[in-house]
Order: sequence, then C-alpha cells, then structure tokens
Amino acid sequence: MSEILVAGAGMVGVSTALALQAQGHHVTLLDSTLQCRETSYGNAGIIQAEAAEPYALPRDLPTLCKYALGLSNDVLWHPQALLQMAPALWRYFRASSTVRHRDTSSLYSQLTGRATQDHTPLITAANAEALISKSGLSILYRDAQPFDQATQQVERMYSSYGVTSQVLDGAAYRAQEPALKITPAGVIHWNQSWSCSNPGALTDAYSQLFIQRGGCRQQGDANSLSQTATGWRISSQDGSIEASQVVIALGPWSPTLLARFGYRIPMIYKRGYHAHFNAPIVPKRPFLDAANGVVVAAMQQGLRVTSGAALVKLQSPAAAVQLKRGVQALGDLIELGQPLQEPQWFGTRPCMPDMLPLVGAAPRHKGLWFNFGHGHQGFTLGPTTAALLADAISGQTSDLIHRLAPARRL
Ligand SMILES: Cc1cc2nc3c(=O)[nH]c(=O)nc-3n(C[C@H](O)[C@H](O)[C@H](O)COP(=O)(O)OP(=O)(O)OC[C@H]3O[C@@H](n4cnc5c(N)ncnc54)[C@H](O)[C@@H]3O)c2cc1C
Repeated sequence: MSEILVAGAGMVGVSTALALQAQGHHVTLLDSTLQCRETSYGNAGIIQAEAAEPYALPRDLPTLCKYALGLSNDVLWHPQALLQMAPALWRYFRASSTVRHRDTSSLYSQLTGRATQDHTPLITAANAEALISKSGLSILYRDAQPFDQATQQVERMYSSYGVTSQVLDGAAYRAQEPALKITPAGVIHWNQSWSCSNPGALTDAYSQLFIQRGGCRQQGDANSLSQTATGWRISSQDGSIEASQVVIALGPWSPTLLARFGYRIPMIYKRGYHAHFNAPIVPKRPFLDAANGVVVAAMQQGLRVTSGAALVKLQSPAAAVQLKRGVQALGDLIELGQPLQEPQWFGTRPCMPDMLPLVGAAPRHKGLWFNFGHGHQGFTLGPTTAALLADAISGQTSDLIHRLAPARRL
C-alpha cells in the first residue's frame, strides 16, 4: 500500500486519514495547527440526518432583494463578495432550479442518509459517546404562516427520503422544553439527527484514534506542496514529507492552494459566527430559530449560538451582524444569560455551486485527490465522503463516486 498525505485535519481530513488507514495505506495527516480550531471546531455540531436537500439559492426576486438589502438574518450578502463570487453564484443559481435541485437532492440524501451510520464506528472506537446526543434537531417557528408552510414539507421529506419528524404545536413543545419563555406557533422535530456537545473535541478524538492506530500527524503549511518526479512533497516542522499521493482536505482554503496547480475552484464562501452564553436553563435539545437563522445548542463550552450565512470574502474582517441580531431576538425566546469572554470565532462553510462536495481525482495531476466543498454539512458528511474517496483511490467505482468526481464538474 502506498504513502498518502492528507492536507487538512478538520472533520473531512481526519475522517479521510482514518478511512485510508483502514484500507492499509501509510497515512500522514498535516495541518497548520495540532488542535481542531477552524470550521469543524465552531459549527453547530449537528449530524444532520434531516438535511436530505442541500440549501438551494432562492430564485425569486423578492427573496434575492431581501438578501442584497440585508433584510434577512439567515443570509446576508456583501456587495464586494458578490462581484468576486459572481461566476460561482450564477452556477449556483442555475443549479438551484427545481429540476436540478431535485436531482441533486436524490444524490445528497444518499450521503446524509448514511452519515450517522458512518460516524458510529468512529465514535465508538474513539470512545467519544459522551459527546453525542441522539435527541434530534428542532426547527422552531414563531409565526403560524411559516409553520404551516413547513408542515407541508414533512410528508414529502418522509416519502422522498425516509426522513422522519414530529410536528408539535407550540404548547406541546413548550411543555417539553422548560427553557422556553413563550409559546411559539409550532416546531418540527427531526428525530434522526444527532448533536455533538463539542465538535472540535470529536474531530480531535478521531485524530487521536488515527494516531493510536499508527498514523502520523504533522504540523506544517500545506502551501509548501510541490510535485516531484515520483509523487508529492510538503514541508512540515519535522522536515520534508514525500508521498506518492496527496489528498486536499483544506475546507475553505482548498481553492487557494489549488490555484497554484492551475485549478480554478468556483467556491462560494458562507461565513458564520458563534458565541457562548451561561444560560441558567439550558434547552434540552438543539433548535433552529427559523425566523432569525440562528441555531442554539448546548455545548461543553456553554450555550452556543451560531449564525446563518454571510457571503463575504474569505479574508474579510469580522462583522458579526447576524449573530448580534440573532442573539437579541433570542432574548424573547429563552434566557441566554451572560456572554462568555472568549476570542471571537468565525468559520466559513465551503460551498460548491452545485451543492455537492468535490470528492475524487484531480483532473490533471496524477496522485492528487480532492475532498472538500462540504458546505453546510461537512461535520455531518466527513466520514461518508472519506469512505467514498478511499474507495475511489482503491479503484472502486459507483454512481455516487462518479457523480461527486471533480472531472465532470470543474
Ligand atoms: C457557523 C457554522 C455552523 C455550522 N454548523 C454545521 C452543523 O451543525 N453540521 C454540519 O454538518 N456542518 C456544519 N457546518 C459546516 C461544517 O462546519 C463544515 O462543512 C466542515 O467543518 C468543513 O470541514 P473541513 O474539514 O472541510 O474544513 P475545516 O474544518 O475548516 O478544516 C480545514 C483544515 O485545514 C487547515 N488548513 C487550512 N489552511 C492550511 C494550510 N495552508 N496548511 C495546513 N493546514 C491548513 C485548517 O487549520 C483546518 O484544520 C457549519 C459551519 C459554520 C461556519
């Protein structure tokens, strides 16, 4: 079996290293840090079995105008970023037609549908059960009209994808959730989804498992990657690493590195923020406040509030407008308590215009593989696309592997 280097130790990279190791490869995992601190650290921690349909771009003018004018709190557009991402957004717009989105969802649901199953052996082997709750994800609707609209999708989600849920009126939900201060219009509770009380710790537990099983973890800058006569070379703090194959799993930073090798990756960067609070009554289950696009989840660090998507340039300075607005609005629903003093965190959902992760061989370089672009669900899908990539590297093929492959999509 060959030497393989995996660049990036977020949920996707760590899972990839484990999947390749399980197939007998000698794997080195490289990241600029030794602890998970980026997107896989600060997310909402939901293993989203309910997310059978990836987020499409709304195609109606009123909604698009709302985004552009900053009138919606779940999605915010920054004009400069819009210009930079215009070609990718145009592709996203086209991929979001009803017909294409339905086709994409039939594929995507096969990934999300097996995600909890793919995490299970890793959670067990990493001894990380204490981080996982299997109590589902609630979507809370404050007003009757959006609640009624949402309930109409419940039957379709079950008949199309087998995703199960419970529809609860506001009073029934409030009776189950002592943290709630008001009675909402209603809640849809997606009961197959799991949540994690420390996504960074789960990623690090998987990384420890990889090391325990004989894997090598190194610190270094992936931008030092170069191609050699026989494979690939990268610089780590312990010297140069040579490998016959390399997997790029750098999440939102993947396109920057790959530009050096001539690949123009049309990524859409959707930033989100989080903050923690010392809430006196912690909600029993995570929930999304649909009206404000914020997720509330109990974490080891405190009650975590995560914000929706801001389309901004990858390097642009922090501006946690959506988080501030969301936190303010949440005050009507629950007692958040005081914010914990901590450095501000933000992360970027690495989204592809066709809403599917890029998994497979690089079109023009031997021994170069991609596993990134997991958008809103990379914490969910890490082990799943890792298994598919490991199969692709070992020469297996399937409809899923074929459809996720970069060759036909770049
Ligand atoms: C606010 C928010 C909430 C979210 N909630 C959820 C959720 O509930 N459920 C879900 O499934 N998904 C969620 N997501 C999406 C999910 O977090 C991402 O899709 C996922 O974490 C991407 O994982 P990754 O491993 O590809 O990237 P990352 O976790 O970002 O990992 C990339 C790694 O590359 C390393 N790196 C970067 N550049 C270099 C370099 N030059 N050299 C070496 N290393 C480098 C970084 O240090 C990092 O460790 C959320 C995202 C956000 C922002």
